[in-house]
Amino acid sequence: MLSYQHAYHAGNFADVHKHLTLFATLDYLLRKPSPVTYIDTHAGRGLYPLSSDETQRLQEYRDGVWPLWQASASISDPLLCDWLATLSRAQRDPAELTHYPGSPWWISQALRAKERLYGFELHPGEHQHLDDQLLPAGVERVHGDGLAVLCQRLPVPTPRVCVLIDPSYERKDEYWEVAATLSLAMAKARHAVILIWYPLLPAGHHQALLDALASSGIRKIWRSELHLRAADAHERGMYGSGMLVINPPWGLDERLAGAMAQLTPLLGAQSHYHADWWVPE
Ligand code: SAM
Repeated sequence: MLSYQHAYHAGNFADVHKHLTLFATLDYLLRKPSPVTYIDTHAGRGLYPLSSDETQRLQEYRDGVWPLWQASASISDPLLCDWLATLSRAQRDPAELTHYPGSPWWISQALRAKERLYGFELHPGEHQHLDDQLLPAGVERVHGDGLAVLCQRLPVPTPRVCVLIDPSYERKDEYWEVAATLSLAMAKARHAVILIWYPLLPAGHHQALLDALASSGIRKIWRSELHLRAADAHERGMYGSGMLVINPPWGLDERLAGAMAQLTPLLGAQSHYHADWWVPE
């Protein structure tokens, strides 16, 4: 079953949370010269025109990137300023927000000589969209199952590796599959920096992933959650966005906390942010 299309959700608050965390992590990785291999296991389309029929159907970006972009002039947090400046480079007119970039685009902005990004996409139509995007030469787009193939790609030929795992969780089994894959991946690449996104839904399915990781033996798992509103069992839909970062760069927590302090008031009165060590060192 592959019915999920990210274009319906592009630029929503979860994308902002995910891509800010990714962006800050990339910034730390860029501070050292040793090359990095990037693997994006669930790449999506790469770039989403906000005017498309799919994105206009739900207009989720209006509760995500839009209020932040509108407030650009009053933003002082350095991470948010850098992120917004990079986002403006994805626009035809840098002053107008018409496109929202996905993870392969964000990672491609960080690529240096001798570095590669492998972006996996299983949905044939989504893969075709990704293939049609203009992205730097170091980006290799693969039509295939990124989760299944991840461990075969590890270890990588470069000294460092950074992985983004961003499933749609259409199937509940995906929470288990992600946890099982992480155990195998960490056994093959102990120092890998791995970012995992998960949705916060009233049914609380993400707890299976968190619990499995807590008993996996993997250490240094940092958790970051952006809540748009309080969890309410009577309401449908995602109330928050979660990110786990295994082996997070030092200082990531403080940088994101600063950015979130300016972002959350823009997302509504109930919005709040929380981060902690899910599994410490
Ligand atoms: N990472 C993207 C971003 O941040 O812009 C969004 C990805 S979206 C949440 C999930 C994508 O994964 C969908 O395009 C879906 O078709 C794709 N997908 C689902 N299962 C997959 C798998 N096993 N391997 C690769 N892609 C998969």
